[in-house]
Amino acid sequence: MSENKEYTGDLLITNGRLVTWGKANELIENGALLLRDGRIANMGNTGELRAKYPDVQELDARNQLVMPGNICAHTHFYGAFARGMAIPGPPMQDFPDILNRLWWRLDRALLDVDIEYSALVCLVDAIKHGTTTLIDHHASPNAIDSSLDQIADAVDSAGVRAALCYEVTDRNGPTGAQEGISENVRFLSSLRERDSHLLAGTFGLHASLSLSDETLADCVSAASELGTGFHIHVAEHEVDEYDSMYKYNRRVVDRLAEAGILGPKTIVAHAIHVDAVEKGLLRGTDTWVTHQPRSNMNNAVGAADIEGMMRLGIPVCLGNDGFSNNMWAEWKTAYFLHKLAHRDPRRANGADIAKMAIYNNAALAEMFWPELPLGKLEVGAAADIIFVDYQATTPLTTANLPWHIIFGFESSMVTTTIAAGKVLMLDRRLLTLDEVEITARSRELARGVWKRFDELSV
Ligand SMILES: [Zn+2]
Repeated sequence: MSENKEYTGDLLITNGRLVTWGKANELIENGALLLRDGRIANMGNTGELRAKYPDVQELDARNQLVMPGNICAHTHFYGAFARGMAIPGPPMQDFPDILNRLWWRLDRALLDVDIEYSALVCLVDAIKHGTTTLIDHHASPNAIDSSLDQIADAVDSAGVRAALCYEVTDRNGPTGAQEGISENVRFLSSLRERDSHLLAGTFGLHASLSLSDETLADCVSAASELGTGFHIHVAEHEVDEYDSMYKYNRRVVDRLAEAGILGPKTIVAHAIHVDAVEKGLLRGTDTWVTHQPRSNMNNAVGAADIEGMMRLGIPVCLGNDGFSNNMWAEWKTAYFLHKLAHRDPRRANGADIAKMAIYNNAALAEMFWPELPLGKLEVGAAADIIFVDYQATTPLTTANLPWHIIFGFESSMVTTTIAAGKVLMLDRRLLTLDEVEITARSRELARGVWKRFDELSV
């Protein structure tokens, strides 16, 4: 294929080893996919589809694995400029210290242009790592108004899917809380005018420990008018539970359930320190939970009971909490974390990890894009597809695929990324974003963010 060939209109992917991740996961050798209007319009054998669509432009997968794009259930684009940043003073000793000295200073140092570029940096990373759907949670207390537009514009130009929200919190005073509510309402309302098939939204909340009853009530009334759920951190550290017990005499999930925050449209990130009754409430309200093992290990906050929650029927999904958008790194970490935490190599097996990363993440994404099957290769599903240059050196089957991913896949094996039928990366060349410009500008902007960070008192 020529260097500058453009892929527009219908596209026929040929010679792929299709990994469908459908209800019954199938591995289809010499497979082909017809992409039309952003969806998979036909699927089958290369010879058959080529005969049926002789005039459609072809994209030869050259026997690579052709799989649905990865989905990230919880991330923070705004954290991009934290990479390599020095935190003055003694080493941070626990998660509350990390919040106070790192995240709650970094978010205050962000201006509009930083928000746009921290999103762009993450989107370059997502496309290179084959992640085509991301659920983001944003904070920038000194640039709240229109902050979600900065991210939305970046998402539209990248061509991936993202569900956005602004985190409401009382830690910046009542004005900051009200501005956060307004930003969620403004953005959610603007989605109708934007009419982007790539963008969705929800209502962001920081965590119980930084939200008063009054603010929660304001959020519930604003969100109910828009028919949206919430995206909130829950019991990431014990301090969230003890704060709620001390101030409200109830545990976090009890408090959120009473306030009307939980439900089938609400995402709870982490849920590490929840007790049995709280798990029952999450299950009873059909609330989504996301697991972020790299972040949990980095913050030393513990290992969530993902197996127990899934046994209860809670849909536990996999996110990255702002770490790289290489979701296979998150698969691997989840696989290792629970083995070490329990000193038992039988914990968190490959099928459990695939259940979170593939099936539960797909179901969560479909909540944001109803009527659009996501995270699977089937006729009618979103044409969100990656090519993975993985030449298995041992037998590869649908049954052992999770272990091939955990022990064999590397993010560098993603060669082509397609979202909504549009080719975003072809043979490792980015087609929608200018990586050189974005990284150069990002380095320049990060210098300013770091300077403002240093000037802010804890
Ligand atoms: Zn988070």
